Amino acid sequence: MPLQPKRRRSRLAPRRKDSAEPVQVPPAAAKKPEKKTVTAAAIPAKASGNRKRTAAKPRPATPKASPSVTKPRPATAKKRQSAGVAKPAKGKAATSLEKLGNTALRVIPLGGMREIGKNMLVYECGDDMIIVDCGIAFPEEDMPGIDIVIPDFSYILQHKDKIRAIFLTHGHEDHIGALPWLCKDIQVPIYGNQLTIELIKLKLEDRGTGVSGVTLKAVKDGDRISAGSFSVEFIHVNHSIADANALVIRTPAGVIYHSGDFKIDYTPITGAPMDLSRIAAVGQENVLLMVCESTNVERPGNSSSESKVGEAFAELFQGAPGRIFVTTFSSNVFRIQQIFTAAEQFGRKVALIGRSMLNYFNAANALGYINMQPDTLIDANDVDRYAADQLVLITTGSQGEPMSALTRMAFSEHRRIEIVPGDTVILSSSAIPGNEKSVYRVINELYKRGAHVIYESLAEIHVSGHAYQDELKLLHHLVRPRYFIPGHGEYRHLYRHAELAHKLGLPWDQIFLLNNGDIFEYQNDNARIGGFVQASGILIDGSSMGNADNLVLRERRLLADEGVVAIFLAVSQKDGQLIHDPDIQARGFIYEREADQVIRECQKRITAYARRGNGKPSLPEMVRSGQLRTQLESLLFERTRRRPIILISLVEV
Ligand SMILES: [Zn+2]
Ligand SMILES: [Zn+2]
Repeated sequence: MPLQPKRRRSRLAPRRKDSAEPVQVPPAAAKKPEKKTVTAAAIPAKASGNRKRTAAKPRPATPKASPSVTKPRPATAKKRQSAGVAKPAKGKAATSLEKLGNTALRVIPLGGMREIGKNMLVYECGDDMIIVDCGIAFPEEDMPGIDIVIPDFSYILQHKDKIRAIFLTHGHEDHIGALPWLCKDIQVPIYGNQLTIELIKLKLEDRGTGVSGVTLKAVKDGDRISAGSFSVEFIHVNHSIADANALVIRTPAGVIYHSGDFKIDYTPITGAPMDLSRIAAVGQENVLLMVCESTNVERPGNSSSESKVGEAFAELFQGAPGRIFVTTFSSNVFRIQQIFTAAEQFGRKVALIGRSMLNYFNAANALGYINMQPDTLIDANDVDRYAADQLVLITTGSQGEPMSALTRMAFSEHRRIEIVPGDTVILSSSAIPGNEKSVYRVINELYKRGAHVIYESLAEIHVSGHAYQDELKLLHHLVRPRYFIPGHGEYRHLYRHAELAHKLGLPWDQIFLLNNGDIFEYQNDNARIGGFVQASGILIDGSSMGNADNLVLRERRLLADEGVVAIFLAVSQKDGQLIHDPDIQARGFIYEREADQVIRECQKRITAYARRGNGKPSLPEMVRSGQLRTQLESLLFERTRRRPIILISLVEV
């Protein structure tokens, strides 16, 4: 059994005090922090880099207001059997069950539940498993792009031989970003729409792993792919990136509708509106389960059409005296298209600033998704050849990322381009919660340099890619699932989405609010939460992802937040034995009294390494290979939940 009923999930208290969730730490966890991080032990080192920590949140208790949606984590295996049990409901899915026997269907989110990011779901039926999406998240409040969190792949690795394929709904980082790590260990075909596949190729090449050994298969809207006993249909939806899909997953146990990220746009920039008629037809198939995104469930009404943005751009471009800078997410091909359209309308040339902007643009352009005159796009090196009022520059940095082109320009740190009075800067995407401070810091600088800055004031330039309440309601009515799992959101989003489904007529016992790792199980015409698997987050050290600027920033942050531990070792050249006890100094790390004990433990550990023989690496070898640092890092993290910078000096005498 893949379940681990005896072992509680890692439930570390969040390191930062200001968690927004109404989290209630289970009594057992509150008393004593767990000594072992579950993740660190179970993930192969090569898949997770050498620094890792769990990003798990304590399991929230059941809110009073929800009758039977979510149950508190049962304490014993026996009790767990009854958790989340839904009463057998009459109707729909009974037919598929008679036909197909008692094959159990299991749905296991490995990320994306009660959090924003790292979306990943496992569907399992008999001996077959498929994975839908494999995304990353950014650690809360940290600078984006420095450290990332990927899902815990332990469960997947344990069942490697059952995995038939990976399916991707679209090319956003929170859905494909963790693939390079998964691809190292799992070689199964990866299916996604065309732009999604192009972006994955870029991603794999970027990380130096390349695409050899990885089977990427580009599909089109409407394609059906079989994988073991599953058949997966790609349905066209609208979103803030091209080639986004919902998936209809047909299994021996019943039909599943997996929404992916979507909105309903009746006037999209390119391509068709969401394929509502196909979805309605699927709704006739007695859908057993719907897993649906919840990002904008708090917003009443309908999201605006992306084409509204075009009108806003035209208005803004009209009055702009000098150069126009527009920041947006590089993945938002529709937005970039509209900037091109507006630029052409006003006789301006467009330059793309920033590598990721160029990468996404080239991928989209190669697929024919950008509609422009051949001479509209100019090289960023040539901007000086044009008058100010003939230029539009599209840059990254809509979130105030410290290393982005816009931030560098704002702080006069960009190699080529400086912001001057007369420039107009349009921030064409709203700040992701948590990034506001960085964004406002950049806006302040832009104003200081005399630029005209357009941000919050124009609602039309912030069109969201996610469905609002009325769009979600429409989808529920069309799909009419028997069971519903809200996904892709923090707890409040999932909860509000459960409420919405209930108001639309679904009984509470057919709605499941899952946490990452929970197993939704459907068998014998009965659904329940049948246990859980390990699914905390794995932190990936951003410095392993390249650029030195990131490394410097990261170290500064670690020094400020976590402190430093310096270790001096003197060993004999002859036999590698310690000449005296390891000398360990800590600064800015933890309070002295606690530090004493941890430091003694480190000393003991080092001494033990020095003494062991049997072909094990000697202490100097461990220092040189970085092994000692890694070992001490995980020891310190286990004991203190901190990751100080560790400096080791070794003298051989
Ligand atoms: Zn998305
Ligand atoms: Zn998403």
